[in-house]
Amino acid sequence: MNPPLLYLVVFIASALMFNAPLSASEGEQDDIKVMLLTGRSNKYHSWEGLSTALHQHLLDAGIFSVDKVVTSPTGESLDGFSPDWSKYQVIVIDYEGAEWPEPTKESFVRYMKNGGGLVTVHGADNSFPYWPEYNDMIGLGGWGGAGLHSPPLYPDDPSKHASRDESWGPRVYWHKCCMVHDNSLPGKTYHPKRHDFLMTVRTFDHPITEDLPEMWLQASDEIYSNLRGPAKNMTILATGFANPAYRGASPYNEPLLFTVDYGKGRVFHTTLGHVGAKEDENVQSVNNVSFITTFQRGVEWAATGQVSIPVPDDFPNAYETSVRASATDENWKSMLDPELSQWEVFMGVPHSTVEDLPTGTYQSDKVTSGTPMGLSNDPKDVFTTYQSEEGETVFKISGEIYGGLSTLDEFENYHFKTQMRWGDKKWEPRLEDKRDSGILYHTHGEHGAFWKVWKSSLEYQVQESDLGDFITIAIKGAKAPFKKTDKRSVYEPKAKYEDWKGYLHAEVEPDAPHGEWNTLEIYVLGDQAIHLVNGRLVMSLKDALDKEGKPLLRGGIQIQSEAAEVEYKNMKIRPIDAFPEILKQKTGL
Ligand code: ZN
Repeated sequence: MNPPLLYLVVFIASALMFNAPLSASEGEQDDIKVMLLTGRSNKYHSWEGLSTALHQHLLDAGIFSVDKVVTSPTGESLDGFSPDWSKYQVIVIDYEGAEWPEPTKESFVRYMKNGGGLVTVHGADNSFPYWPEYNDMIGLGGWGGAGLHSPPLYPDDPSKHASRDESWGPRVYWHKCCMVHDNSLPGKTYHPKRHDFLMTVRTFDHPITEDLPEMWLQASDEIYSNLRGPAKNMTILATGFANPAYRGASPYNEPLLFTVDYGKGRVFHTTLGHVGAKEDENVQSVNNVSFITTFQRGVEWAATGQVSIPVPDDFPNAYETSVRASATDENWKSMLDPELSQWEVFMGVPHSTVEDLPTGTYQSDKVTSGTPMGLSNDPKDVFTTYQSEEGETVFKISGEIYGGLSTLDEFENYHFKTQMRWGDKKWEPRLEDKRDSGILYHTHGEHGAFWKVWKSSLEYQVQESDLGDFITIAIKGAKAPFKKTDKRSVYEPKAKYEDWKGYLHAEVEPDAPHGEWNTLEIYVLGDQAIHLVNGRLVMSLKDALDKEGKPLLRGGIQIQSEAAEVEYKNMKIRPIDAFPEILKQKTGL
C-alpha cells in the first residue's frame, strides 16, 4: 500500500527569493505572514498554474512572507491535514476539492471568527458547497461539482453533486446605486468564455479600492455569474459586465471583487484568475495589472485591515488592458527623476507682488507682456521635486511665477500618462480664479511665443473642473467634434469634426476631490490626439495645424506653472502605432 501522502509544506522565505538586503530574521519580523493553501482543482483548472502566479505576486509585493501549503492530490486521503492557522495573518485559498477533516474545518472557523484573514481566488469559491460556515465566509460560491471532479467529491451521495443554485441564497448583483439581493431569480452559476471586459468600482472608500480608477478593462478572464450563497455582511468593491456578444454573458453587473465580515475576521473574495487545466502561470488572466494589484491589496487588507501597496502606474484604463509579460520590460519610459534631467525650465514675467527676486528682474501686474525671466532661471524654485514616502519622485510646481517645464526631446506617436493633484496655494494674477496649470504638447518654435512664457502647441487643460479641455496655443487650429451651447462650445464625440481654434470644453468633468490624485492621459498619433481624465474620454481632435498651416505632427511636452500650486507624479510616455480600438470607435479617429 502507498503510505498516505498527507500534505507537503513548502516554506519559501521571501527574503531568499528577493536577495533582500534585510537579514532573514528582520524580514520575517516585519512581513505579513501568508499561507498560500493549494493542491487541488476541478478538471477545468490548474492549481499549479494559479498558485505559482499568486506566489510570485505575493513575493513581488515585498511585504509578505509566504508559506505554500500543498494538500495531498485529488483522490488521496486528507487525514492528518491540519495546518496551524494561528501562525498566519491571512490564508489565501486556491483549493477546489474534497472537504477537509472535521477538526480542520472547526479550527479554521475558530481562526476566522477570532479575527483571521481569508482570501479566496477564482475556483476556490466552488469549494465546500455543503459547509455552511464556508458559505458564510465567502458570501457567494460557484460550481458544486457533478462531473467536475474525478473521483467525485461525494461518492457516497449522488444527490450532493449539484452546483450551487437558489437554494444556497439570492442572486446578488449591482443595480444603479446599490447591491441587490434578488430571491426571485432561480438558476445555477455560469460564465461566458474568457474575454476582456469592463470592471467598475462600486465602493470607493475602501482601502482595497482607494486610488483605483473608476473603471478599467480587465484582460481575458471568466466572469463568474449568478454565484449563490448567503451573501451576508458583504461589501461589493467592484463589478464586471460581460460583453453581450459572448454566449452566457450575464445581463447583470456581477460582483467580482467583494469583502465579507465574518465574526472578527476579514474576507476578500476575488472571482478573477482563471487558469485552465492545460495552462501554466503565463496567462493574461493572472498577469494583468488589475488582477495582480487587487489581489495583493486584498491580501494585505484581509491580513491587517489596511492597505499600503500603491496602485501601480501601469494599472489599466477603461480602454486598454494592461498585462505584464513576466519580468519583461514595458515600453513605458519614466519622465521624472529628482533632477528633472529630461527637461528645461523657462520662466515668464513675474507679477509685481513676487518678492525676493534678483535685482533687475522685470516685474509687472500684467504678466503676459514685458521681459520674461527666461531659460534656466528659476531663483524662487517654482519647479522642484521631492520624494514621497512611497519613494516616488513628485514634481511640484509652486505656481508663484508663470513658467513652463519643457522636454528636451520631441515626440510624435505616443501615449502620455501622469497623475496630478492640486495644492492649496494660489498667486497673483489668478488669486480669485480657478486653480490652473496645463500640459502643452506638440510644442514647437521659440520659448515665450504665447504670453511671453509658453510655446506654440496644443493644450490639454489642467484647471479645476476643466481637466482635459482643449486649447489651441498660438497655432492655426485643428478639427474637433463639438456642440454649441448658450455660453460655450462643448466636445461632442458624435458630432462631425469641424475647424476649431481657441478653448473647447470637455464633455464631462470627472475631477477627483481637491487634494486627491487625478490620472491624466493623452494619446497622440501625428496630428490627432485623444484626452482622457481619470479613465474617461473627454476630448479628441485631428488635423492640427501650426501657425503656417502645416500639419502639426510632432513636438515637445511642456508643463505649465500658472499661479496655482500643483503636483505631478508617475509621469511617463510610451510609443504607440495605433489608438486603442474602443477609443477609435468612440472618437471616429
Ligand atoms: Zn475558471
